[in-house]
Amino acid sequence: PSPDDDSQMLEIRVIPYGNKQRLMLVRDVSRLYLLERMRRDFVANISHELRTPLTVIHGVSETLSDSVKAKAPDAERPLELIQQQTRRMQRLVEDLLMLSRLETDQKPVERQLLDMPRILSVIVDEARALAQDQGHHIELECDPAVTLYGDESELRSALSNLVFNAVKYTPKNGRILVSWREDAGGARFTVEDNGIGIPAHHLPRLTERFYRVDSGRSSRTGGTGLGLAIVKHVLGRYQANLEVRSEPGKGSTFSCRFPPAVTARRVVSLTGSRS
Ligand code: ADP
Repeated sequence: PSPDDDSQMLEIRVIPYGNKQRLMLVRDVSRLYLLERMRRDFVANISHELRTPLTVIHGVSETLSDSVKAKAPDAERPLELIQQQTRRMQRLVEDLLMLSRLETDQKPVERQLLDMPRILSVIVDEARALAQDQGHHIELECDPAVTLYGDESELRSALSNLVFNAVKYTPKNGRILVSWREDAGGARFTVEDNGIGIPAHHLPRLTERFYRVDSGRSSRTGGTGLGLAIVKHVLGRYQANLEVRSEPGKGSTFSCRFPPAVTARRVVSLTGSRS
């Protein structure tokens, strides 16, 4: 049942009991659903309310920038800190709003045939810009014949989170490979890095909201702790799953498998135009 439904919610489980018998457990979960809805509404409302004051603080501090530089150089660094932290809070609020929308939105995805080579090269270019001081080598291998039916904006958020994480959690001069290819009738998106890696016992909890392997490092990299929770929710809307393989000190591979139902093949002519 949907958490937005006010009627009574019953959870029914049938468990094998003995040879031919079954045990039926019925549990009233109405209150759990109500609490879950209250939590979601609260997070969505508070994030929405924080948006406007943050925009004002950001705008005012930008306006102050020039006069502080000219008249009060001592205040330049504190002002930079205000701007940095405001941007961080804005990212957090935007991620919280996106997560609330994904949790509440029961509507089916509005699917369009996507231009995956263009979407992926934009993501990789953005990652290269983000990593410009770090000397990373970021490569894209893309099969232009494989594509998806989906919503460009939410898929871009999800896939770019995985690529940006590879940039954030790979020490200088790392190698990052982003690939997109056919996989048993469906499609597979993979990001492979040779970064810090993740100890095995953290892997099952990575997609929980605010779960971090090393909170000190994550806050230095400016992460919100919501990226993989967003990835999981977006992929859920495409019946796609997220697989993670990682070894501390060696690197990580995050991979999303999209089923045939949301994938398509395009004919790519030798002159480059597609149909
Ligand atoms: P954050 O905003 O902190 O990056 P995410 O939800 O995107 O939050 O990721 C959760 C945690 O998973 C991160 O804090 C980091 O510890 C770990 N992680 C994610 N991607 C990688 C990666 N490619 N290499 C190593 N650790 C990673």
